[in-house]
Amino acid sequence: MVEEKCALIDDIGWHFGTPRQDKSRNSILSRCGKVMSCGITRLKDHLARIPGEVTGCGKVATLVRENMMELMRENKVKKKDLRKRKEEFMSGLKEGMNMMKFKISWMRMHI
Ligand SMILES: [Zn+2]
Repeated sequence: MVEEKCALIDDIGWHFGTPRQDKSRNSILSRCGKVMSCGITRLKDHLARIPGEVTGCGKVATLVRENMMELMRENKVKKKDLRKRKEEFMSGLKEGMNMMKFKISWMRMHI
């Protein structure tokens, strides 16, 4: 299993869990009483019942679960969006560079 670093970031997940300091490592105590090894994402997986490394929560309210799923879906879209924008920016930059090279060689030929 991949060891995650515990980051106390501003995350909606913290409304549903409390960070705990165990003997050797940090963990999160979910409101339902389940202790999650490090990772707020894992707590959210648990609440949204996303199949993966954690078992789904049996006590979470349907409304919370659905909202959590929606939120995670949105986050995924946002991440994709950001990557796309970065790619567009980079390709724009490349085009700009080519244009500049073209201008320089044109100037060299004509001046
Ligand atoms: Zn739970």
